[in-house]
Amino acid sequence: MGKIIGIDLGTTNSAFAFVQAGKPEVITNKEGNRTTPSVVAIDVDSKSEIAGITAKNQMVTNPEQTFYSVKRFIGLKYDDSSVKKDLELVPFKTRKSSKGGIEIQFGDKWVTPEEVSAKVLAKIKADAEAFLGESVDGAVITVPAYFDDSQRQATKNAGKIAGLDVKRIINEPTAAAIAYGLEKSGDQTIAVYDLGGGTFDVSILEIGDGIYEVKSTSGDTHLGGDDFDQRLIDHFVDEFKKEQGIDLKEDPAALQRLKEAAEKAKIALSSSEQTEVNLPYITADAKGPKHFRMTLKKSDMEKIVSDLVDKTFDSVRQALKDAGVEKSEINEVVMVGGMTRMPMVKNKVKEFFGKEPNISVNPDEVVAVGAALQGAVLAGDKEVDDITLLDVTPLSLGLEVNAGQMHVLIPRNTTIPTEKSEDRFTTGVDNQPAIDVKVLQGERPLAKDNKVLGTFRLDGIAPAARGVPQFEVTFKIDANGILNVKAKDKGTGKEQDITITASTQLEQEEIDKLVKEAEENASKDKEEMEKLKVKNDADSYVFQSEKLLKDHADKISEDQKTTLEDKNKEIKDELAKGDDADIEKLKTLSNELMEKMQEVGAKVYEDAGGATTDSDSESGDKPNAEEGEVVE
Ligand code: AMP
Repeated sequence: MGKIIGIDLGTTNSAFAFVQAGKPEVITNKEGNRTTPSVVAIDVDSKSEIAGITAKNQMVTNPEQTFYSVKRFIGLKYDDSSVKKDLELVPFKTRKSSKGGIEIQFGDKWVTPEEVSAKVLAKIKADAEAFLGESVDGAVITVPAYFDDSQRQATKNAGKIAGLDVKRIINEPTAAAIAYGLEKSGDQTIAVYDLGGGTFDVSILEIGDGIYEVKSTSGDTHLGGDDFDQRLIDHFVDEFKKEQGIDLKEDPAALQRLKEAAEKAKIALSSSEQTEVNLPYITADAKGPKHFRMTLKKSDMEKIVSDLVDKTFDSVRQALKDAGVEKSEINEVVMVGGMTRMPMVKNKVKEFFGKEPNISVNPDEVVAVGAALQGAVLAGDKEVDDITLLDVTPLSLGLEVNAGQMHVLIPRNTTIPTEKSEDRFTTGVDNQPAIDVKVLQGERPLAKDNKVLGTFRLDGIAPAARGVPQFEVTFKIDANGILNVKAKDKGTGKEQDITITASTQLEQEEIDKLVKEAEENASKDKEEMEKLKVKNDADSYVFQSEKLLKDHADKISEDQKTTLEDKNKEIKDELAKGDDADIEKLKTLSNELMEKMQEVGAKVYEDAGGATTDSDSESGDKPNAEEGEVVE
């Protein structure tokens, strides 16, 4: 069997590692670097595919055929609001696929984001094989903790396309914690602060007995090193304009040089107090060539970018709140991502938590190292201590029932893998031939306010009265976070299922927003839920009253029949008004109908000599509006 490697497939850069004699080691790529830009391109001259630093280096001259930040699109839908903005920002061409996904124009072909990511992974595989001198066929790949099922599935597919057997998809913060071997020092709560090239994530984890549990995650999918670079570029452009009166923003080639210089200056200022930026022949005017030269002090840069660092703490506060943890309860702060090398970032993190952050493992490599250690455990490497992973679902999962309610099967923050079955689902009308299972994700009680992850139909239901068929619905999430939903007709044994591979997407921002919205709307939602319940109950009483009339036609007097029928009609007419239905009126009508039904029911059984008969209504019992959860 070939080697298993651990891969940190990043938005801007990737890193990969393996384990030898129980020790993790980062793999150097063919260019001799320990990180590899997650960039793919089609070379203008040779028309061949290139990946990594060579692709990144020709980005300006070949923008339409240089593919970067593809991780922002993996497993997502074209029409997703958070994707739209990103699609506008990238220079390569994209379009909506026939299934609503994203396609990228790659040469003369249209490919999916996972196919592009696969090309980065293929370079990683090839470079690792060259480094190790043996074949690599297995991998553990990391993803952000907030990635949803479809993003995880798409990442797994990317690995498969690249010829890798993806043994496990694990969360980036979990991998970072594994790299630190934090499980060895007893139970503790840790914060993983990850500031990379394009994104910021923070996670709160609980660790103990070799178990890692992600308690909460938060972050900003559009905050990273690139924003710091952009601030410096803007500063350079302003300075040049002041001095020379020329706006470099109009000149793409000059801008690319400024971008490279900005990143270089930012990195240099992590280890020195000032740096020289020197860009000869940056542009020219009628008087001749112009050069850009300036001295940038660390203190000046810090003023320019300080608010960007401060912004990360909004997410940190949110993550602490979601995990129900005070910052003083955090035992370790683990730093991940190249940007955490910036002294100001380290200092502000230290100030916030009141303790020295842990930076002993290289922040660019820590995630890959953790993934490699997990890979070694999965391969049965006896020299690596056993590690168990416990990740959690970021949002609740359930299905739509009772004309618009969210019925949760797996609550938010449930540890995965997990499986949950319920068999209290039934039909809403007589002879209903099929049920449509609408799989939902979110925290709101009304289905319409949550995300639809997918819908499937279970048909072939044998003709039966409403409420009689019984369905079992099972939600199963595997260790990679991939969701499978199955519905089974308990009468016929017929089954139908769906694996959520094209789910609606949820960026971390969106998760936070949804949770917040659920809190804010709690009282409004409660009111709406009550309205819905009044309507469902009214509908159910009409059903029971009609059943009573049918089942006991011979025992019910004409007068009683007319009274019940009139009430039924009044309720039906009111329900037919939909959203305009008068809820108070429905409540009154339902109560009146219920009383009448009790009267009629009592009379029927009295006449029958007090014996309990066949059907599901018992003598003198109050009619019951609870019939199980109706799936339409
Ligand atoms: P990552 O996505 O984790 O690879 O982080 C990449 C980001 O870290 C880029 O914006 C880099 O410019 C930045 N970076 C890398 N090294 C340093 C450093 N020594 N000081 C400041 N920023 C750095």
